[in-house]
Amino acid sequence: MKEALLYQPLADSRVRCTACARYCNIPEGKVGLCGVRQNIGGKLQLLVYGKVITGHIDPIEKKPVVHYMPGSKIFSIATSGCNWLCSYCQNFDISQRRKAEGTDLMPPDVVSLALSHGCQGIAYTYNQPTIFMEFAHDIGVEARRNGLINIFVSNGFDTPDTVAMMDDFLDCITVDFKGSGETGFVRKYIGIPDAQPIFQTIQGIKDRGKTHIEITDLIVPEIGDNLDEARKLSRWLYDNLGPDVPVHFLRFHPDYKLMHLPYTPVKTLEEHCRVAREEGLRYVYVGNVTGHPWEHTYCPECKNIAIKRYGFDITGWNLDDKNRCINCGYQLPIFGQLSSSVSEDRFLPVVN
Ligand code: SF4
Repeated sequence: MKEALLYQPLADSRVRCTACARYCNIPEGKVGLCGVRQNIGGKLQLLVYGKVITGHIDPIEKKPVVHYMPGSKIFSIATSGCNWLCSYCQNFDISQRRKAEGTDLMPPDVVSLALSHGCQGIAYTYNQPTIFMEFAHDIGVEARRNGLINIFVSNGFDTPDTVAMMDDFLDCITVDFKGSGETGFVRKYIGIPDAQPIFQTIQGIKDRGKTHIEITDLIVPEIGDNLDEARKLSRWLYDNLGPDVPVHFLRFHPDYKLMHLPYTPVKTLEEHCRVAREEGLRYVYVGNVTGHPWEHTYCPECKNIAIKRYGFDITGWNLDDKNRCINCGYQLPIFGQLSSSVSEDRFLPVVN
């Protein structure tokens, strides 16, 4: 536990948390909606500072991040708690556990674990990282000092204060929309009034210019798969982030309170990709459909496969040492070279 930085004291020993767009007004002795920030004696305490509930080693592609340091090994961590109440949450046992639990690990311990497992970075994922922003910040600064990158897998429901704090350490963020951020969907299945703070977060990060951004959109069949909403979102992304922002349309699988829904049909995901491309986005991916041809990165100029993938594995690399297409020379907006942790022995012949 540690005193939080992101809050304001109010009258009557209340505090206003500024870590996320809920801006909880918390009376003495109570916790905010996420369950991990408590008002103790008029001071907001981050209960999960130094408590990690899970840790895994994943390829960066699993976040998903595909245009930043491809093939990197990433140490992925989370605390308990979350600021959202998603009915479909795949990590509900972590996110909806609204109390401080986990293994005691301080920032240098987390960094040592990542380094000792040969990772190139740390991801703050599985729950919303900004609810433990002060802990993430201290890990992230230590990680950077040791040559590691930092990645947020985030719902983007943040504040200008959290966005400003990202400057110190955050290299990359993937912001996850659900149901394309449609208001009826987010009210009913997430428990937020609307998606507006997410757009403000993305704009804020873009304006600061320090963090690579990728976007995902979880397409939930029957209740969150409206093509008009996907078009609106795609247009906003094109207008505000430009044509090169990678966008992933993710397949839903039944989980938590939505076990009665089917998997998203692949055709629905393909239609969403088509709409995004029509709006001018150049790098549009299908996610969670292993073996789908739209897992690959295609050169926008000659249409050849530039990076071939199978699930989270890179199975072919058709870029030169400056990430130009080896077929036509087009410069792709990929940051970093293929990680040495990817064995080229596993590459299949690239077929276009
Ligand atoms: S981080 Fe938690 S306590 Fe703070 S505003 Fe968000 S839900 Fe409330």
